[in-house]
Amino acid sequence: MIAGGVTKMRRYAGRVRRSLWRRSLILLYHRVEEVWPDPWGLAVSPANFRDHLEVIRGYGAALSLSELVESLSAGKVPRKGIVLTFDDGYADNLNNAKPLLEEFGIPATVFVATGYIGGQREFWWDALDNVFLQPNTLPGELRLRISGSEHQWDLGDAAVYTAERTVIERESKEGRGAAGVREKTYQELWKLLHPLTDVERRITLGELQSWSGVDPSVRPSHRLLSREEVRKLDEGDLVEVGAHSVTHSSLGSLTRDDQVNEIRECKSVLEDILERPVTNFAYPFGKDWDFNQETIDAVREAGFGSACSTTRTHVGRDADLFRLPRVVASDLNAEQFDRFLFDLFNG
Ligand SMILES: [Zn+2]
Repeated sequence: MIAGGVTKMRRYAGRVRRSLWRRSLILLYHRVEEVWPDPWGLAVSPANFRDHLEVIRGYGAALSLSELVESLSAGKVPRKGIVLTFDDGYADNLNNAKPLLEEFGIPATVFVATGYIGGQREFWWDALDNVFLQPNTLPGELRLRISGSEHQWDLGDAAVYTAERTVIERESKEGRGAAGVREKTYQELWKLLHPLTDVERRITLGELQSWSGVDPSVRPSHRLLSREEVRKLDEGDLVEVGAHSVTHSSLGSLTRDDQVNEIRECKSVLEDILERPVTNFAYPFGKDWDFNQETIDAVREAGFGSACSTTRTHVGRDADLFRLPRVVASDLNAEQFDRFLFDLFNG
């Protein structure tokens, strides 16, 4: 009787353990490059990315997003499945990430914002970085009218930001000095620009560029994929390109018509480049407030079969194909990354 009880308990514990492992993860990367400063932690160094792939290979269950979507559609969650995704469409995804993915035989999906393909402008957060986070000398005072409100910043001493000062202050733990003032201004402007339409944002960025005198041309370090590179990235069976809107706006802030245009145009531009259906979408920024039911309906009606958010959790049995959660993979070394995956699968 006692033995029977123990067996039952063992069986129960086994079931719990098995159900815990019956979860998958969708990892979110942006850049595989040495980038500094990196205010949003979007870049993983090529050396660390290689280590991530080594660790992932050790788990033995890397699969493509399309394979995961197929499994989930059949009511199955792959055990310890790991899916790699990249957002935005930086050129380093082709130059640095794809060769490593091929070396390890690990698939990935790269979500591209088509309005920036081969374009003459950087992503708007990078354009802000170029004005405020790079060494330069700016006028002391900034006045901008954004969404009908006047805003004013006084940079004071931080107007002059030399390369030497940049290095010293970024390393410093206390009193960030000019670096602190510059980062605060960057963050405040980021928040003001985030809910705007692309047209409104371009006006403000144009004003910032004339005010600062900073050259608005695309820096090689912040270059996006060209049409030809998007095609090359998608070539072969390992890397698949997905859609990430046209202008990388927070879709939930846009009108329904604008959302529909962003979603449909992105799909048709990519399908024109790739000459195949594009079936996976990722909401720009991806937080709850960056998309709404209208967005989900528009994505579904455009013919996508899945959409990824940036809700930070694993994929379980209850996963919604149009709200797939993803976890940002930051610039961790092998040991930290192994621990990070372990915690996500077991937490
Ligand atoms: Zn993005």
